Parts: sequence; structure tokens; C-alpha cells
Amino acid sequence: MQFPSQNLYSALRAAFPEDLDQTAVFATTPDGAPLNYSWRDLERASACIANLLESLGLPEGSRIAVQVEKSVEALLLYLATLRAGFIFLPLNTAYQQAEIEYFIGDAEPAVVVCTPGNFGWVSKIAFKAGTRHVFTLGQDRDGSLLERAAHCSDVHTPARRARDDLACILYTSGTTGRSKGAMLTHGNLLSNALVLRDYWGWRTPEQGGDVLIHALPIYHAHGLFVGVHGALINGSPMIWFNKFDAKATIAAMARATVFMGVPTLYVRMLAESSLTREAAAHMRLFISGSAPLLVDTFAAWQKRTGHTILERYGMSETVMLCSNPYAPDARHGGQGERRGGTVGFPLPGVELRVVNDAGAALGAGEIGAIQVRGPNVFKGYWHMPEKTAQEFAEGGWFKTGDVGQQDARGYVTIVGRGKDLIISGGFNVYPAEVESWINEMPGVAESAVVGVPHADFGEVGVAVVVPRAGAKLDPEAVIARLRDTLAHFKVPRRCFIASELPRNSMGKVQKNLLREQYRGLFLKV
Ligand code: AMP
Repeated sequence: MQFPSQNLYSALRAAFPEDLDQTAVFATTPDGAPLNYSWRDLERASACIANLLESLGLPEGSRIAVQVEKSVEALLLYLATLRAGFIFLPLNTAYQQAEIEYFIGDAEPAVVVCTPGNFGWVSKIAFKAGTRHVFTLGQDRDGSLLERAAHCSDVHTPARRARDDLACILYTSGTTGRSKGAMLTHGNLLSNALVLRDYWGWRTPEQGGDVLIHALPIYHAHGLFVGVHGALINGSPMIWFNKFDAKATIAAMARATVFMGVPTLYVRMLAESSLTREAAAHMRLFISGSAPLLVDTFAAWQKRTGHTILERYGMSETVMLCSNPYAPDARHGGQGERRGGTVGFPLPGVELRVVNDAGAALGAGEIGAIQVRGPNVFKGYWHMPEKTAQEFAEGGWFKTGDVGQQDARGYVTIVGRGKDLIISGGFNVYPAEVESWINEMPGVAESAVVGVPHADFGEVGVAVVVPRAGAKLDPEAVIARLRDTLAHFKVPRRCFIASELPRNSMGKVQKNLLREQYRGLFLKV
């Protein structure tokens, strides 16, 4: 059957500037020497890799699993996979053997690409699972993938794909139970990219253009979809960092206009004296997401740079869902300021509702489970039809697993993950509420509250508090202050002072590790 192709690569390619010799990616070699890629380089090099993939005679719908360090070539492999119509499956470079064994066993990729250093053990796992092709890709344009692709033609016509065809599988971080492969289609990714291009006011070259600082990993939705698609769908160049470096990022601001980061990156830049109003003067927009941005960080950034961070909310299964407004325009009744502590409004095309345990929609300001619908919502979990069915409510609403509220003006606030809810003596305790009180105490930098088993109450809260540099905190005093402010069932039973909170590479606090650490505290032996 003939249909207009909805291949995401074709849409990105259509946005490339007319002059293909302009720079698309400003990168550096591992030794720090400048290494620029033109739009023509992106087009030709991804064609070579796409032709290599096609020459392997893979079946339709083959998965290409990729566990490599970040590099522009890894990005080219992504673009090539889209072009050839296969399914890109990026894997966090931190994953170890047992995890890779699970992902490869579950996804059954036709091709695996790994770092040259991991070839020994990764290829063993892959061949055992029935994968026929294992290539390597290093960070310095080395490895068998590029050697083989160099012999392929640099001309390639993108495979025809329908909106509903799979483009990517992203395995969720899976802090509880098995990690699930979220299946995203060409249509999911393209619709989201187009919405964000408009919503965040990306500027065309005629409007002065934009330059994105890309310092996030590309095995995750934030760096791969929001970042890469954001720049490419607007024909905007990227300043590319394989690893985040606070000083280098601040220095790059003089040549850039847009930055996307997880909250930790903002905190690390605030610790640098080179972050000043002048250093950020050329920038148009700072975007934060993937984990809650502390109101403190939001305010400190505003004070230091004069810029108001725009916070947004999304997840692997849905790409972006909500965003603070770019400008206080008429779309939001002329009152659309960026508000710290909130994730703004559902994006155009995204429907969002907050429901109670019975699934009934709640009113403004009421806390409940967040459900969403829209063209950006994924197709389901790979090989898990039952799990997929459980995660959708009647009417096609996807249960995000997040708990939150929407105020009368439409601003959405995330209160936490559903599974982080503490039920103590039958009462619901939202950790985010308790954390926000702790975070306001003098000398506190940040905190995390988790539920641990308790012989009488079922569960009780434990607070882990990080002091500001140079501050001394008394855990008993923290508890005593909370008892003066909050209903006693909400007050954590114990408080611990720590130098930092455990976080994953996307800046999310790993509450599962804290729960594990303190789980024996109140259990009778
Ligand atoms: P992931 O699938 O790894 O992208 O994780 C998605 C989860 O990150 C969401 O379900 C939220 O719990 C969390 N998240 C993402 N953005 C934000 C944000 N701006 N504020 C609070 N939580 C967020």
C-alpha cells in the first residue's frame, strides 16, 4: 500500500538549511581539538551507515541495540537507523553484564553496537541470544561500524514508514520490577518535536536562529528526543559535549542561545564563579526537566543570570507532556509566567487529568494520579501486552505513575511518583510536601523523604537531609520543627544528615536506594 512516508528522518532532513555546508555540530576530538560537522556531513555519513544496515538483509522491524559512549557518530547511527526504518534501542552506558543480558534477551536485537572495549563480553551475550551482527563504535571515530560503513554509498533514500511504525524502544530506568521497553513511533516523536518547536519559540535563521548546547546523554529521551530533535527540526546547530563540564558549558553560552539540563547541571553551574549575568547574556532560553527543579535553584539562577528557567515534564513513554510557557502570551490568558516548582501547562494536543483511586477526575488543587492522552503517548511496552493493558485506563488514558495536581489556572505540579507515596497508619503522606517544608529550613540544601516498613504503622517516613555548605544541622531539631508545622502522622520518624543524595545520571534521586538502606530501622528482630 502507498502512503505518504512519515519517516521521522525525512521530517528532520526537510528542516536542514539550504546551505548544507554550514556547521550543524560543533564538537571536539577526545584531545580537545575542534571538530565540526556540516549538515552535508550528517546527511552523507548517516546515509553510509543506513546503507550498511540495509545491506545486512535484516527483517522488517529489526532492533538495533546501541550501548556506546556519547559521540557525534552515535548520533549518526541514530539518524541512520531512522532512515533505514529500523528500531533504535539505546542503552545506558552504565549498564553491566547482567543488565545487558536482560535487555538483549528481551529485545532480541538483530544488530548490537558496543564500545570496542566491551566487545568481548557484549558479543558473547549477543551471539548467545541469537544476534547475528555485533559492531563496535568508539568515541574517536574508531571501531568496526564506521570501517564497514566507509565502504557504503553516501546516498540513501529514507525507508517509507507510517506514523504508527516503531522508531525507538527506550527501556525505563526500572527502579522497581523489570525494566520495560517503551515503544515509540515515528508519529509520537515527530508530533512532539513539532509542538516543542513552536511552544518554545525556536527561531528560524531569518529570526536570528538558535544554537543549542547539547551536554546530555543520548540514551535517554531528554538528550535524544528533546535535545537532538529540538535542534534538528529547526535546522539549528548544536554545540556538542560528550560529557557535561560546568566551566566549558558556561564558556559556550557566549556562542549559544538554548540550553537543556537536568537540575543537577544547573546546581553544578551555580557553583562556578564564571556563571554571571554577562556569561549568560547571549542566551535565550534555559530548560530543565527529568527531575524536580528546587525552587531555590530556580531563584538562584534567576538572581545570578537574570534568566528564568523554564521547567517541563515528560517521561520515556510519552516524551514531553507539560511545559511552563515560553512567553506570557494569550494562550494562557495573558498570565503565563514561568513558575518555579511547577511544570506548567499540558502541551498543545496533550490532554491531562488528575484522578482519585477510583479513577474519577478530581478538581483544581486536588492531589491524585496523573493520566494523559495524546499523539505523543507510546504504543505500549515491548513484549508486555498485559502490563501495557494495565497501564491504560478506559478511554485510552495512560497512567503516568506520577502524583500531582493542577491549579485553577492550569499549572501542573508534580508531587512525586505514586510508588513513593507513604501510607503510615492508614494515612497518605506525600514525600514532596514534607521535603518542601524541610527544604525551607535554614541551612538545608535539599532533602529526600522515603517510607520504610514499620511493625505497627505499616510504614513510616525517614528523612535524609543535605546541609548547605558550611551549615551544621541537628536531625532532632529538623524533626522538632516539622512537628510544630505538620500533622504528626506526616512527620518522619528519623532524620539523617548526609553529604549528598544518591542520584542517577539523569539527576533523579534514587529513593529505592534510600529505602533499601533504611528498611531495617523499625522492624522488630
Ligand atoms: P524517564 O522515563 O526516565 O524520563 O522518567 C520520567 C519521570 O521523571 C516522570 O514520570 C517524573 O516522575 C519524572 N520527571 C520528569 N520531569 C520532571 C519534572 N520536571 N519534575 C518532576 N519530575 C519529573
